[in-house]
Amino acid sequence: MIKIGIVGYGNLGRGVECAVTNSPDMELAGVFTRRKPETVKTHTNVPVYEMDKLYEMQGQIDVLVLCGGSANDLPTQTVELAQYFNVVDSFDTHAKIPEHFSNVNASSEKGKHISIISVGWDPGLFSLNRLYGQAILPNGQDYTFWGKGVSQGHSDAIRRIAGVKDARQYTIPVEAALESVRKGENPTLSTRQKHTRECFVVAKEGADLKRIEEEIKTMPNYFADYDTTVHFISEEELMRDHQGIPHGGVVLRSGVTGFNQENKHVIEYKLTLDSNPEFTSSVLVAYARAAYRLAQDGQCGCKTVFDIPPAYLHVESGEELRKKLL
Ligand code: NAP
Repeated sequence: MIKIGIVGYGNLGRGVECAVTNSPDMELAGVFTRRKPETVKTHTNVPVYEMDKLYEMQGQIDVLVLCGGSANDLPTQTVELAQYFNVVDSFDTHAKIPEHFSNVNASSEKGKHISIISVGWDPGLFSLNRLYGQAILPNGQDYTFWGKGVSQGHSDAIRRIAGVKDARQYTIPVEAALESVRKGENPTLSTRQKHTRECFVVAKEGADLKRIEEEIKTMPNYFADYDTTVHFISEEELMRDHQGIPHGGVVLRSGVTGFNQENKHVIEYKLTLDSNPEFTSSVLVAYARAAYRLAQDGQCGCKTVFDIPPAYLHVESGEELRKKLL
């Protein structure tokens, strides 16, 4: 059995607990939190420990799945822990991945452990599909559309506006743009042409709704470059209709082959997720299996999804996979 430790118990932590419970070759060694362990209630009977306990349990953990936030937790947590454990994280600040890789790699090499960073769906499975698309159809174009799904960052940005009590923001791909790409028309698409943004806002009593709507629609970086719709709803409606964390999206590669570039090809990879964190956690757990196997092979250092042999993700042996899936 592969012994998994969960570091940080939020949405991803809960998702990893669930995914490990459903993996026949894995068991949970513990949840490790920065909060008082007795205040963290898990779904199973997995024990909860404070972070310091980790170092006493080194021999009882094969892989740590790091479930902290990308903005403030992972840049330090992954680097610190990679020296002492095999680790997998879901670091998703795309622009800072090279820096994170370099820091984690130094740490893993020092401790002779394996780390796999930026695992999930984007970065993660979407990145892999962009790579496959470019490798197979070098003469072509990539497109990534996100949604329909909740963007935590955009929801938070609305909540910071004066007079807003709560909010949920959905990112939605523009269907006409998607269809054009699927037809192989290779359109050049502006930010506005690819996605729209829909906001459900609970305003505080007496707040100026017109001003809130204007502030949302003109917010630089977040909304100004998009067609944005704002709906004011009651707190009850928000609780009733907008509590899920759905997401997903599509990666397309549209390219041509032939001596006269006469044949068009479109590759489409689509995800429709009821729960972004539970799906991301399921990806993390499959890559934790790969981390364990790479460590068994005697490898060390930092990897990304680009470096992992696909068969290492699957519970069955290479022989079984060749028989059943190839
Ligand atoms: P989250 O629920 O906010 O949890 C982050 C951390 O906050 C937890 O590890 C936990 O650490 C702490 N925490 C959670 N609930 C708390 C509470 N009630 N009170 C105080 N602290 C609490 O974040 P998440 O939804 O799991 O997402 C984590 C990261 O995953 C995101 O930042 C995102 O970057 C990444 N992500 C990546 C992908 C991808 O495709 N690559 C997809 C989705 C998300 P302690 O237990 O130590 O307190």
